[in-house]
Amino acid sequence: LGLLRHGLRARTAALYWLDPRREQLCLREVDSEHELDRSPVPLGKGVVGGIASRAELINLRQVRDGFPGLSYYAQATRIGAFLGLPVSEGGCVRGVLCLDRAKAEPFDADDEAIAAEACRQILRTVRNERVYFQIEQARYELERFFAASRALAHALDLKQVVNVAIDTLSSLGEIDVAALTLYDPATDVHRVEAALGDGLEALVGTEFRSNQGLVSLVTKRRTVLPVNGEAPSARTPLFDRDTRLRGIESLLVMPLVTADRAIGAVLLGARAPAVFTKQRRAMLEVIGNQVAVAITNAQNYARMEQLATTDGLTKLLNRRSFMERLQAGLARSTRTRKPATLLLTDIDFFKKVNDTHGHPMGDEVLRRVAHTISQALRCTDIVGQYGGEEFVLLLEDTDDQGGLVMAERLRQLVAGLRFESEAGPFQVTLSLGVATFDRDAHSADELIACADQALYACKHRGRNRNIAFAE
Ligand code: GH3
Ligand code: MG
Ligand code: MG
Repeated sequence: LGLLRHGLRARTAALYWLDPRREQLCLREVDSEHELDRSPVPLGKGVVGGIASRAELINLRQVRDGFPGLSYYAQATRIGAFLGLPVSEGGCVRGVLCLDRAKAEPFDADDEAIAAEACRQILRTVRNERVYFQIEQARYELERFFAASRALAHALDLKQVVNVAIDTLSSLGEIDVAALTLYDPATDVHRVEAALGDGLEALVGTEFRSNQGLVSLVTKRRTVLPVNGEAPSARTPLFDRDTRLRGIESLLVMPLVTADRAIGAVLLGARAPAVFTKQRRAMLEVIGNQVAVAITNAQNYARMEQLATTDGLTKLLNRRSFMERLQAGLARSTRTRKPATLLLTDIDFFKKVNDTHGHPMGDEVLRRVAHTISQALRCTDIVGQYGGEEFVLLLEDTDDQGGLVMAERLRQLVAGLRFESEAGPFQVTLSLGVATFDRDAHSADELIACADQALYACKHRGRNRNIAFAE
């Protein structure tokens, strides 16, 4: 514009650009001696708006003083001559180039040719800039994409996967809100696992049944909605009837699909219109698939870990995992110089329960006794299954007096349980051996051996009782 202004001895060279909606022209670049009015010019209004709407060059050789059609200066300024050209790309007007002179020295045919060449140069620059921007953006999104893939591949914990997913998805493009739901077909419950932006965080933990909301429909039909990526009417529920989004112009809800089913959905929204371009949707869907796989992996991993560390019948820690936790607990006890007490329990005459009431009833007894014990504990206490009908507990920060109190409580709780079988009603009793670290023993194995000796003493003295090793 500067070159053009000097070359053509103009006072002003200004470039107006049409907005994406093609409704108004905005001053984009200017080189002038004077201040220009920066308010937008509606398409079709005045000389500048007329050049854009008719796509025609206008050369005003004389401009009447105070002519209202040409008023782009901030202050009333006399214009001697004016030349305006449409800047068109493939027959479509993109902007208007304006030149004027203070004196009444009209622009001639050579000036027009030079200005027309300048318009072509402007278009080339704009096109280069646009391509460059797209490449930059695609490169940025690809980088995010690969970072997301790596992060998802490394996340094993469900919470971690969900957070990585929501962070990545919302960092792609101009996304302002994001949420991820998981669906449990067994209970028909959708649960918001993560949410981000515009106060959506408060929704985490929200549960809802299948309904006519977008998230529910997407999960059920396994298709992306809305089809055009535009926000649906404000009345359309997203999660349940109480959740709506305000000021969202672009919306995308995609299912998280693994091999055979939708495990949930991801909702993405943006305040800007037309954010979900074809290219971006394709990328988001690929990431969505990876998220679904990562979530399934995390769920399987958690299930496997549970299988490996807990007893299938009672769901208590199995012996191996209890021993690990025991070692850690004793290490803490050594460090804090506080005692820790171990309880070893054994159900009395359990063979007889099996013989009289059947093995399945025996299993039921084990489940209920295990449940009763774990319900009675503090959250810092550790309980595990030591043998078929033997349970083991570590009470941290507890001496043998405290241990005996707890043992007595458990004994009474279990003695209070009522069972019913075809052979009639019955009850069971518990014997408990108590040993304290590190007064009775200095290692995990030794501690268990002490508790076992105390337990043996219980059996010897008639069962249904608790005895401390020191006794
Ligand atoms: P005591 O009072 O001396 O402990 O007598 P007891 O019959 O309970 O003897 P013991 O503790 O040695 O017997 C354990 C019995 O528990 C043997 C086995 O049949 C039964 N048992 C072990 N694991 C399970 C299980 O998972 N389910 C069922 N139903 N029974 C089990
Ligand atoms: Mg036993
Ligand atoms: Mg027993």
